Amino acid sequence: MPNDTTSVGNVELIALTDGQGDMQPLEVFPASSLEIWQSEYPDLLDGDQIHPRFGTTAVRSGGNLIIVDTGLQAPDGTLMSEMRDKGIEPSTVDLVILTHLHPDHIGWNLTDGSPTFPNARYIASQTDWDYWTSPEVIEFADHVKKQALPLKDLNVIDLIGNEDYSITDELTAVSTPGHTPGHISIVIYSAGERGYILGDVAHSPAQAHYTDWSPSFDVDPDLSRQTRHAVLDKLEANGALVSAGHFPGDGFGRFVREGGRRIWRGI
Ligand SMILES: [Zn+2]
Repeated sequence: MPNDTTSVGNVELIALTDGQGDMQPLEVFPASSLEIWQSEYPDLLDGDQIHPRFGTTAVRSGGNLIIVDTGLQAPDGTLMSEMRDKGIEPSTVDLVILTHLHPDHIGWNLTDGSPTFPNARYIASQTDWDYWTSPEVIEFADHVKKQALPLKDLNVIDLIGNEDYSITDELTAVSTPGHTPGHISIVIYSAGERGYILGDVAHSPAQAHYTDWSPSFDVDPDLSRQTRHAVLDKLEANGALVSAGHFPGDGFGRFVREGGRRIWRGI
């Protein structure tokens, strides 16, 4: 099986990528230092830049085709061509789950004003929706006006509460707040195996060890830090296969302990 496809029990996961960002590591993680990046994570550095990937996870569960997050839709965005190459026809997507409403997660919700996934229901958190559509926030959030609000007008989006939400028998949306107020992640449990779609609980493999590093674009960095510790501790303990949208490669791996520190080990 190529690395861009893996499975958790009977659930199939396919990694898709819409491109990558170019950012200074200290811009993203103000608590980090260039010295740490250079000495401990040279593979993540490209000169003085890091390149967070814009990842989407396609999931097949119980006859449903689900995609989690829809990239950035930059002019050179590759999500639609990758879907084509991997045999995923947009009209066959049943559900689109949005971990949160940042621009790099909702970019391909609509294309020229129509849903890119014409037969899908879209799912987002009510708490995130309320935050992003509040007058003081939406004023500076054109991406929400363009890529989220029309879903409501077209009546194709369902907003879910903060309690656990069952997507299929094998997938559950859980509240992981901090990065944004209503951020959600996806727990997978199938045939005795565990998986997890992380969303933006973490943005870099470096946070496996430097779990305190909160990115500058967190809405609530303290809550995000608390959530990240709780989630990564649990994923390390239960050995779940993780799909991490901003991590390099295909973003599949596990949080494991090696030599006294937690690391990210890609599959
Ligand atoms: Zn993001």
